[in-house]
Amino acid sequence: MLLCAIQGDITKLRVDAIVNAANSSLLSGGGVDGAIHRAAGPDLLHECRLLGGCKTGDAKLTKGYRLPARFIIHTVGPVWRGGEHGEPALLASCYRRSLEVAAAAGVESLAFPSISTGIFGYPIEEASTVAVGTVRQVLAAGCPVQSVTFCCFSAADLAVYRAALA
Ligand code: ADP
Repeated sequence: MLLCAIQGDITKLRVDAIVNAANSSLLSGGGVDGAIHRAAGPDLLHECRLLGGCKTGDAKLTKGYRLPARFIIHTVGPVWRGGEHGEPALLASCYRRSLEVAAAAGVESLAFPSISTGIFGYPIEEASTVAVGTVRQVLAAGCPVQSVTFCCFSAADLAVYRAALA
């Protein structure tokens, strides 16, 4: 199994699937979700409309359309409300469910953005610990996904993820 962190635009990655940090409607939002919808094209919104939303901590699969990635896994992270409202468990669930959906689709290489740490306000240090810890745990338990990339948008975020991986 291969785990790494890079800085970049997740919409450009040549992996089997990328994860989207969506909102519960699965209809286009800002941040990484907006970037993914712009890059994938309008057919993505069409398919998302048929999914009937997604609960916080869950994940749903669509095709990748114009992206280099074959699939998009849409997950809904928790909004940070101070950390005592189940945020760590819900964030861990996003990573776990995304890996399960990826495995069911035969995905071998997967990239995650930093879920919940943009508009949803989850502190990056805490979020990176949950992200790395959960992915390691799921892969160690025998998940067939071969490689996971944490795709950080900023250099500062990359430094935090590198520290969490070290
Ligand atoms: P959330 O609502 O889950 O907080 P956001 O999209 O606001 O989601 O932010 C999640 C993370 O995605 C942030 O770290 C943000 O900087 C990052 N991000 C935004 N655009 C991209 C992109 N094109 N590729 C990778 N990461 C991105």
